[in-house]
Amino acid sequence: MVLWGLITQPFFCPSADMTFRNTSLVFLFAIILCGLGHYYFGFTLWWVFLPIILYKAAIIYGSSVIQSNFYIEAHCKGATKEKVVAITFDDGPDPGFTLKIIQVLNHFDVKATFFVIGKNIRGNEAIIKQIDSEGHILGNHTFSHSFFIDFKGRKAFREELTSTMAAVYKLTGRQMKFFRPPYGVTTPHLANASKDLDYEVIGWNIRSMDTTGDSEEIITNRIKEQMKPGSIILFHDTSEKTVNVLKQTLNFAKENGFKIVSTERLLGLKAYEI
Ligand SMILES: [Zn+2]
Repeated sequence: MVLWGLITQPFFCPSADMTFRNTSLVFLFAIILCGLGHYYFGFTLWWVFLPIILYKAAIIYGSSVIQSNFYIEAHCKGATKEKVVAITFDDGPDPGFTLKIIQVLNHFDVKATFFVIGKNIRGNEAIIKQIDSEGHILGNHTFSHSFFIDFKGRKAFREELTSTMAAVYKLTGRQMKFFRPPYGVTTPHLANASKDLDYEVIGWNIRSMDTTGDSEEIITNRIKEQMKPGSIILFHDTSEKTVNVLKQTLNFAKENGFKIVSTERLLGLKAYEI
């Protein structure tokens, strides 16, 4: 990213982020330059194809790395030097594990954010109510969390968000404003739908990878090594392994002077409209 900044800074000051717009402009410029080289100086056609291939690669990278802010700005860490970090859980509510997670959080007296999937709410209404009544934050993680969700258009994405929001609103009277894209993948339609509904996209900068086959020890060490002031940690409230990793993470934070704060506090943003 540093290299990218150096390349784009002179052209797109003051912001040199690798956004879709900046990337497209840089590659358009490169493609035209190579095209002219081909026409006037006899460069082989490979010189025209090369920036096109690299452009495609940049788009794949930008879409799949939420921290790149490619299509939409995502809040992935807090701007602070204080030893404060936020904890987030995706993919609940889960009847087997969300309440166990809440128990651990309560034991350590810390608040977290739960990005819930709309289709998981039916039958687990009490869990949603408990997350809210115990002072944790609810965020939107779409209704279907379908593997093919990124092929959806703007309107369909809006429906994904509004149906989950409506289900949570019915139970808590809260209108969620935090949205975490499934798999951390962003698309132009997702970005537009999110902007239409005035959501704040919340990412992370520590991916625990707690849904992989890695052992509790490996996952905990991964988190410990990356924990810094302003970190946002991504967990999933869907396994016993996460319950244990959470305990170890909170113990480590306590022993090393890290305070767990809510995403609202870490980012200085409001999680709800009302
Ligand atoms: Zn998810």
